Amino acid sequence: MSKHITQAIVVHCMDFRFQKYLDEWLQSELGHGQYDRLSLAGGVFDLDFVMRQIELSHRLHEIKQVVLINHENCGAYGAADSPERHAADLRQAKQRIQAEIPGLEVRLYYLLLNGVFEPVS
Ligand SMILES: [Zn+2]
Repeated sequence: MSKHITQAIVVHCMDFRFQKYLDEWLQSELGHGQYDRLSLAGGVFDLDFVMRQIELSHRLHEIKQVVLINHENCGAYGAADSPERHAADLRQAKQRIQAEIPGLEVRLYYLLLNGVFEPVS
């Protein structure tokens, strides 16, 4: 099998309301076709599943960077949906990624309903 590599994996929610914002932002941040893309309900909500995809992306495509994007008003979180919960889950995901796959750069964002990407530190 021939080698094919890319720079990043992006993980974001499947919610249709955000896809236009995501497409435009990813185009300008990473460039079209320059990343693996995982779209699933809740973004990092199901972290075990997300970790398996990141591991595969790293092994197969030698990614250097992980971009995790959760969003405001996420149905997958239901009553637990809050900016604080999303920030906590994103930080936990980053810690786990860096513990299990050392060397990866991890960028965290909270995407608002108006299309603004707020960095989470
Ligand atoms: Zn969502």
